[in-house]
Amino acid sequence: MSAARVDAVAEKVAERELDALLVSGEVNVRWATGFTGTNALAVVGKDVRVFLTDFRYVEQAEEEVDGGFDRRRGERDLLGDVRGALPDRRPLRLGFDDAQVSVRTHARLDEQLGEGIELVAAGGIVEDLRGVKDPEELGLVRTAARISDEALREVLDGGLAGRTEREVARALENAIRDRDAEPSFPSIVAAGPHGALPHAEPRDVAIPEGTLVVVDWGARYHGYCSDCTRTFATGELDGEAGEVYDLVLRAQRAGLEAVRPGPAGKEVDALAREIIVEAGHGDAFGHGLGHGVGLEVHEAPTLSKRGEHRLAAHNVVTVEPGVYLPGRFGVRIEDLAIVTEDGTEVLSSFAKELTVVG
Ligand code: ZN
Ligand code: ZN
Repeated sequence: MSAARVDAVAEKVAERELDALLVSGEVNVRWATGFTGTNALAVVGKDVRVFLTDFRYVEQAEEEVDGGFDRRRGERDLLGDVRGALPDRRPLRLGFDDAQVSVRTHARLDEQLGEGIELVAAGGIVEDLRGVKDPEELGLVRTAARISDEALREVLDGGLAGRTEREVARALENAIRDRDAEPSFPSIVAAGPHGALPHAEPRDVAIPEGTLVVVDWGARYHGYCSDCTRTFATGELDGEAGEVYDLVLRAQRAGLEAVRPGPAGKEVDALAREIIVEAGHGDAFGHGLGHGVGLEVHEAPTLSKRGEHRLAAHNVVTVEPGVYLPGRFGVRIEDLAIVTEDGTEVLSSFAKELTVVG
C-alpha cells in the first residue's frame, strides 16, 4: 500500500470542493489504507487522514495501515467517532459514498455530525481510482491469472467427459488453493444445454462426449482477482455449435482489439456486439461485454451499454462475449487484459481456438 493512493483520493476530494471524504466499505477502505479487517472507516482530505477502527482491530491496523494515517480507536459503531476526526472549520462539506452508505446510516451519521457539517453524496471517487491499477496491483493480478491457468491445465489433464460438472469445479478450486490462492468466485462448469445459462451452477451430472463445456473460473491472490472463461469441446460437434463458437471468437477478438486508452466502455461493447447482432444472435448475447477486475471480481470500468467511462492505461478488464441458445448450448470466451499505453497485455494464456478435451 502506498501513500500515493491516499494522495490521489485527497486530490479528487479537493476537485469536488469537499473538505473531506468518508471512505467506507471493506474494499474501499482496504484499497485506500491497506487494512484487511472488516470494521473500519477512513476520513481523507487535504489536511486530514484519520483511520478509525474498533478495539478488535487496533493491533491489525497498526501493522497494516500506513500512508500517513492517524490511527484511532472508536466505538464498535464507528459513526459516532467521525465528527471528532474532522477538521474544526465550519461550515464543512463531508463527502460520503452514497453507493456504500444506507439511508438509515446516512440519517444516523447526519444526526451525529450536528450543525455546520454538510453531508454530500460523492460516490465513485474511490471506485474510479481503484480502476487504474498501480504496479503492485498489476503484479498481483498477473499472478492470480497465472495461478488460475495452471490450475485449469492440471484439471484438464484428467479430461472432462465422464466427470461431473461438480467434480471438475471442485478439482479446479482445489488446484487453485494448492497454489496459495483461493477461488475469486464459485467456478462455472456447464455442459451442453446447461451452458446456455450464463451463471450456471455446477451439477452432479456427468459431462457427455461431443458437447460444449463452458468453464468460467478465477483465482484471488493477496486480495486481487482473475477471471477467465473458455468453452471446450468434448469431441465432434454438430455444425452449428462450431459456427457459433467461431462467431463468438470473432466478436471476442474484435472487442479485445478495441481495448486501449480512449474509447468509452460502451463503444468497445458496441463493436463486439455488432458482430453478433449481424449474425442474427443479438438476442442471445444478453450481458455486457466485460468489466473491470481488481480487489473485486466485478468493478469499474464497465464494458457494456452503460459504460460511459473512457478506458485508461492500467485498467484491468475482461472481454467476454457469449451466445446462449436455450435448450441447446452456450459459448462464452473471456480474456483478462491489462490496458496498456497503446493496446492490451492479455493475461489469459489458454488458446482461444476451439480445443477438444476428451
Ligand atoms: Zn468470468
Ligand atoms: Zn467476467
